[in-house]
This record gives sequence, C-alpha cells and structure tokens, in this order.
Amino acid sequence: MRKGIVFVISGPSGAGKGTVAKGLVDTLDNISFSISATNRAPRVGEVEGKSYYFVSDERFGEMIANGEFLEYVDKYKNKYGTPKSSVCDLIDRGVDVILDVETIGAANIKKVMPDAVSIFILPPSLAILKQRLINRGTESSDLVEIRFSQACDEIGCARDYDYIVVNDDRDKCLKSVASIIEAERQKGFRNEELPDLVLKGKVISD
Ligand code: 5GP
Repeated sequence: MRKGIVFVISGPSGAGKGTVAKGLVDTLDNISFSISATNRAPRVGEVEGKSYYFVSDERFGEMIANGEFLEYVDKYKNKYGTPKSSVCDLIDRGVDVILDVETIGAANIKKVMPDAVSIFILPPSLAILKQRLINRGTESSDLVEIRFSQACDEIGCARDYDYIVVNDDRDKCLKSVASIIEAERQKGFRNEELPDLVLKGKVISD
C-alpha cells in the first residue's frame, strides 16, 4: 500500500485556503484534514476538534515539551501546531492529509517530510484580499490591519512552494488544486511497485 501524501496549503488570511481545503475533503476520496492545536480563543462558529483543538497556553507548552508537534509556530500573537500522531497515523494508513499552515510551518514540514507537496493559494490582488478580510468580520479592525500587513510577507514566500494557484474563483481554484493532488498521486516514484505487480499477473485498479 502506498503511504499517504502530505499536502501543505498556505496563503494569506482571506486567500480562501480554508474553503479550498474543505472543498477538497468534501469532493476527493481518501484525503483528510489535519486539525491543528492553537492557544487562541475560538471565533464565532468555530468548533472544538473540528476547526482546531483549542488549548490553554500551558497545555500548548506541554505539547511542545512532549514532542507532540510535527511543527509549531508563534505568530499573529498566537501559537499554532500540527499534531504529529494524527498526521503520521493517517499517512501510515495510506490516507492523504491536508495541512493548512502558514509559511514558516510549511518550510518546517518540508524539512521533516521532503516528499510533502506544498501549494500556495494566492489572492488575485491585495485590494481583493483586504476586502475579503473586512467582509469576513471575524477580527477587530486592528487585527485586520496586522493580518493584511503580514499578507505581503507571506506572498513573498510563495515562490518557495511547489505550486501557486490563484484564487479568483472558488470552483476554478478548487479544480486546479484537485488536479494537482490527482497528478501527485500518480507520480512514478510513489507507484514504483505497480509495474512489477502487473508483470506478476496481479490486477490493479485506482
Ligand atoms: P487563523 O487564526 O486565521 O485560524 O490562522 C492563522 C494562520 O495560522 C493561518 O495562516 C493558518 O494557515 C495558520 N495555521 C493554522 N494551523 C497551523 C499550524 O498547525 N501550524 C502552522 N505553522 N500554522 C498554522
């Protein structure tokens, strides 16, 4: 059985990563979303264990000390971390995993998992990004400003990703990312054993 693939999705707040990630899990087979831990307070509508594992500052520190994170970061005045055990369990069972992480986390994942595939979701313009952040209405105006100024730094890291996809239309963007995932699943180095199985008379399917 092939191991699951880790897909790292990044992009500035408001680029639409969350919607793309949800769309992928809803439409593709054999893929799951990794739930991160954070010490920030839940926003309206966020659900424990679905949006994030919301933990105290103290618990987050314990998780770092216990080596429970694949990567973690202290950013946007909050801490975020990818739990190691759930990601490793999924890929060991052959399930692909989507991580929604910012740029530092993405670079750190690539260091520990060089086969991970990174995808950057780029907004069509800064003006549209700012409007999306304001329309979201989940942050105070000073936080919107912080997020917006960090967006430019994040966009500057996009060239380090394996793929860059512009999100000017939700469905088009989702389709592009889904096709990247399909193509990555069929890469030769991930399927090296298949030709021999066919030569041995086995019948294989997708
Ligand atoms: P938000 O507070 O809007 O949910 O997330 C802020 C940023 O943190 C987003 O860019 C998101 O991708 C990133 N993030 C969420 N979970 C993790 C994580 O586990 N690790 C890292 N490095 N970034 C994360």
